[in-house]
Amino acid sequence: YFVAFEGGDGSGKSTQAAMLADWVARQGWEAVRTREPGGTALGRRLRSVLLDGVGDEGGTIEPRAEALLFAADRAQHVSEVIRPALRRGAVVITDRYVDSSLAYQGAGRAESVDEVEQLSAWATGGLVPDLTVVLDVDPSTAAARRGADERRRGEDRLEAESTAFHTAVREQFLLLAEREPRRYLVLDATTSERSVQRRVRAHLEALLDA
Ligand code: C5P
Repeated sequence: YFVAFEGGDGSGKSTQAAMLADWVARQGWEAVRTREPGGTALGRRLRSVLLDGVGDEGGTIEPRAEALLFAADRAQHVSEVIRPALRRGAVVITDRYVDSSLAYQGAGRAESVDEVEQLSAWATGGLVPDLTVVLDVDPSTAAARRGADERRRGEDRLEAESTAFHTAVREQFLLLAEREPRRYLVLDATTSERSVQRRVRAHLEALLDA
């Protein structure tokens, strides 16, 4: 079973993914918690290029180059981590997947969402989550929620990108969910961690029992 958490920066995906993995393991399933970018050794190298840039002499990463690097991370992630785990019968819980590329590299960077979708489908060999949980939060609330310490670590597009960028990202996530309501669960991420988690578990429990 394959679950993806999606949503803007500061929406609480990592916390919810960790809580869900604990619960899945307590139910007696093998839980594999992973993330993008950076779910593999190659991915961790790509993550540092994507988030820290290419150094003083390098300049910026072009939108299409960025999309290809995220796609490379994902291709490696799918074949090295996700597919083998699913084959073993594990429940895979990923913090970000294809929808993040459609939202950030597509809508956010104003590239064609359709083209990024084709690229993603090629990178993953067409592997689609059984359930995608979108943690929805407006960008200004997400920014306010994050501590200054976290922001100082640098891996923070909330600081680096404009409100318009984050608004486009958010709208793209919601659009994807509207397009396939049966495969998506959209939750208001401004409610408490416990109440978000309760809803995710109830939803997944029903799906696993079915
Ligand atoms: O989710 P996480 O904090 O690990 O993501 C790291 C950064 O990479 C975030 O700032 C996120 O906005 C960005 N990102 C992106 N495109 C993706 C995935 C993540 O721009 N496809």
